[in-house]
Amino acid sequence: MTTETEAQPSRRRMRCIEDGTMLEESKTSGEPSMRCPACQGAWLTDEALHAVEDKSFDADMVKGQMRYGERPTDDDCPHCGKKMTRFRYRGHNLEIEACPEDAGYWLEHGEDRHIKDALKERKRGLRRSVGAQRAWHQARRGGSVSLLDRIKHFFGR
Ligand SMILES: [Zn+2]
Ligand SMILES: [Zn+2]
Repeated sequence: MTTETEAQPSRRRMRCIEDGTMLEESKTSGEPSMRCPACQGAWLTDEALHAVEDKSFDADMVKGQMRYGERPTDDDCPHCGKKMTRFRYRGHNLEIEACPEDAGYWLEHGEDRHIKDALKERKRGLRRSVGAQRAWHQARRGGSVSLLDRIKHFFGR
């Protein structure tokens, strides 16, 4: 039996860009992420985001522009400390921030509401007759599960 230590040489401790709270390890669609326990903002590495997309999108949906309307922000990246950029994710009504070195992405908790609003219209009909879980599986079968759905699922506790 080996004794586990708390040493994590490759993992840097990161703080929330909104309130400076130490981020805690979490999961987004099975991929490792970091979440702020205070404001529920979340950090996804570039690797994790792409892994989520690979599981979420049809092949023809994966390709294409990710960043629409990208512009600078005054927020310091929790990973490298440089100023982050902000953009509309794949043209959806979802704004996320990105590390200028492409290390990862930040999702504010407020964006969660935008996601839910965007999904409400689409799922309203389904929700009348089936549960959210059933709708989720139906969406999967239909091949229309997007990263938005997965992130919404992640936040939808
Ligand atoms: Zn926070
Ligand atoms: Zn960075």
